[in-house]
Amino acid sequence: MSWRETLGVTPSTETPYAHNTQNARKPVETGNCADIADSAYRDSEQESSKLLEALADTCKGLDISQAEVKEALAAEDIEDWRKGAISADTLAAFARSLVQRREMGQGKRPEHYTEQATCKHCGPIWLWLSGQVLGCPWCWNRIADKPITRPCAIHCGDCIHFERIDHPHLGHCAKNEPEAIAGLWDTDRRYCEHFLPRPQRTHNNHPRPE
Ligand SMILES: [Zn+2]
Repeated sequence: MSWRETLGVTPSTETPYAHNTQNARKPVETGNCADIADSAYRDSEQESSKLLEALADTCKGLDISQAEVKEALAAEDIEDWRKGAISADTLAAFARSLVQRREMGQGKRPEHYTEQATCKHCGPIWLWLSGQVLGCPWCWNRIADKPITRPCAIHCGDCIHFERIDHPHLGHCAKNEPEAIAGLWDTDRRYCEHFLPRPQRTHNNHPRPE
């Protein structure tokens, strides 16, 4: 899901408002190629500094720079901003989501993530709603191999990083979590930011890839 879908921004395929005078600019039909290239270059320089100016407001009070927000915008986003299809409020929401994303990458729970939920791939997570989800914002941490802040304890035996030894209950952590001398007991409850749930065994006839 793109950030625009997440923020509920109108898809870019819709026609932007006609009162935007920048859209009225006609393509250059005369002049040689060098002139056109030069003027296009100056245009893009101007637009770039205009965007940075707009982003200076966006970033007020946030722990992020305009250059960082600009860097995170795709070329289509910038094009849509130029056409007036992305409002200042949307840019501000985007910047806030970037700050939040960065904090989550450091394992910080966003303030409004107050409910305990379970992500199919991440296990127990903090979220703005409770229940089961098939994917979640912490999935980015999981993919990047970063810690995930947990709302509760887990069992090592349910984790993909638990490597069983020749013992009915003992194993070792592939993520080097602290262990007792003998290893980890599969049913012990512990807090772990590297826990990832073992896929549930299904009772159908589909063969499972090993
Ligand atoms: Zn997840």
